[in-house]
Amino acid sequence: MQEKGTISIHTENIFPIIKKFLYSDNEIFLRELVSNAVDATQKVKRLATLGQYTGDLGDLTVEVSFDKEKKTITIADKGLGMTADEIKKYINQIAFSGATEFVEKFKDAKDANEIIGKFGLGFYSAFMVAHRVDIHSLSYQEGAKPAKWTCDGSTSFEISEGDRTERGTEIVLHINEESEEFLDKWKLQEILDKYCKFLPIPIKFETKTENVEDGKDDEGNPAYKSVEVDNIINTTQPIWTKAPSDLKDEDYLAFYKELYPMSEDPLFWIHLNVDYPFNLTGVLYFPKVKNEFELQRNKIKLFSRQVFITDEVKDIVPEFLMLLHGVIDSPDIPLNVSRSFLQADGNVKKINSYITKKVADKLSELFKKDRVSYESKWNDIGLFVKYGMVSEDKFYDKAKDFALLKNTKGEFYTLPEYQEKVKAAQTDKDEQTIFLYSTDPEKQNTFIESANKKDYDVLALDSPIDSHFINNLEQKLEKTSLKRVDADVVDKLIKKEESTSNVLTEEQSKQVKEVFEKAIANQSYTVEVEGLSPEELPVTITMEEFMRRMKDMAQTGGGMGFYGAMPDNYKVAINGNHKIIDKILKAEGEEEKGRLAKQAFDLAKLSQGMLSGKDLTEFVKRSVDLI
Ligand code: ADP
Ligand code: MG
Repeated sequence: MQEKGTISIHTENIFPIIKKFLYSDNEIFLRELVSNAVDATQKVKRLATLGQYTGDLGDLTVEVSFDKEKKTITIADKGLGMTADEIKKYINQIAFSGATEFVEKFKDAKDANEIIGKFGLGFYSAFMVAHRVDIHSLSYQEGAKPAKWTCDGSTSFEISEGDRTERGTEIVLHINEESEEFLDKWKLQEILDKYCKFLPIPIKFETKTENVEDGKDDEGNPAYKSVEVDNIINTTQPIWTKAPSDLKDEDYLAFYKELYPMSEDPLFWIHLNVDYPFNLTGVLYFPKVKNEFELQRNKIKLFSRQVFITDEVKDIVPEFLMLLHGVIDSPDIPLNVSRSFLQADGNVKKINSYITKKVADKLSELFKKDRVSYESKWNDIGLFVKYGMVSEDKFYDKAKDFALLKNTKGEFYTLPEYQEKVKAAQTDKDEQTIFLYSTDPEKQNTFIESANKKDYDVLALDSPIDSHFINNLEQKLEKTSLKRVDADVVDKLIKKEESTSNVLTEEQSKQVKEVFEKAIANQSYTVEVEGLSPEELPVTITMEEFMRRMKDMAQTGGGMGFYGAMPDNYKVAINGNHKIIDKILKAEGEEEKGRLAKQAFDLAKLSQGMLSGKDLTEFVKRSVDLI
């Protein structure tokens, strides 16, 4: 029996197209062929379970091998095999309609995934790297004859009786010149590791050396010898395929180490397992974040029935959870379609909200179960939670009960707890509750102390996400606004009805203002004389909240370039009620007045970490003179 025929595609040049447009991704040929081999093996297992195949299943290991000399790569399985008719049916008739449309549509396709799966071209991806492909197959069916198929990458094929004696299929790729890089042990190992590491059927590639016990040596200690054993590249039952109840913490940690050998142990994890209305399994880990700037996205791996697809899970995983690590496996994610389609896909949307909900539930559970331990992890968890609250309203609604605010004393409060705590002391005359915060408790210490003296509490909101979180809280919390503790002198941070009056006369105030303006001699500082409590500092330098936020935004690239370009503008609040001011007024001569004013101003700068260089040197000299 020998037959020649033509592969039924409606265009003559499908292979050049596959090759040309998919070149960048051509390593996926191996994923496609190995998963076909695995599929065929699982099918024969199922047939055996159903009693439709009664032969001996035998060793079902799939084998990948290569021959550098002959320039071939072979994928062999002991799956259900194909008869000649089945090869014609399944391989030759690539039945998709309108090849012209296909060519049109995908001439700009960026990745092979888009095209391969959509048109059921898995097998044909072989032609991305091979100039000729042979199939040797023997079907499991009684009395089936072995079949051999050869195709040289044109649309004509040859099919004849083969000589395979074992059930299953062997695909031999005759590697083309441009693809010879694949005829390399490490290259193949790398691709197998990437795509096939968790396939459900053992996959053998080459051999490896192992030390095994071999009797006893002369002293009676165990002796070892090295032997060559099959190198099985995959774990057939990765933990996400198992029931959570069958797993211990060690299993999750070991799996994490396997995925990310360089990472510290994760904080905790979530086992995803749902089969309705979509099918999804997986394990997501909360990593320990060493440094916010080191955060790595794209650490979640997406699988479809244990075949690795991609680590770009954007759209499937909510944006704020992209910082998590782990795996997601779902046959219900349309893997082979373009991004815009993915975003509109109903299943993808459901998966997205399922994951969000699971994460929120887990956090809520941890919070309720052991608040102390939850608080101790807040530095790491907080980042996700805040990021989530800022980016997704749905998550905010859940998280508002387990999100924590930390104050400068290191105490933690939930949002409702905190509102309750500060309401009495920190509500202004317009019924607004003012949350005070510090972005740098070290540097803003003077202000924090002044605030604490007034029984105000100050939050530590000192990570980069916090500037967004602050805006978010203001939008969500009713009658609440946030102010950085150095946005004004403490008496004015939270405006109350009563205000301490200024002991200075209008004339004196004017005089003080002039003395300071002259002494400071800098346009960036606006001097104002105010009646503050006599215990407050004589001079305080502040930057107004709105201006500072705009400048911060400009700095972090959030637009507002206009504010970024403006010079820093500070307010210098002179406490008219402080006795030093009185002293300055009474000082002999303009020069002495100026000297004292400058000293008081520098002192304020010093306490806020703003004094340096020449100014600092002068200040020290002046201080010595004054003593
Ligand atoms: P898909 O896997 O999406 O069906 P492919 O192009 O990868 O598309 O394969 C086409 C068909 O060829 C398969 O559905 C299967 O019937 C058959 N096939 C491919 N490889 C094998 C194999 N190793 N053993 C048995 N059948 C196979
Ligand atoms: Mg396939």
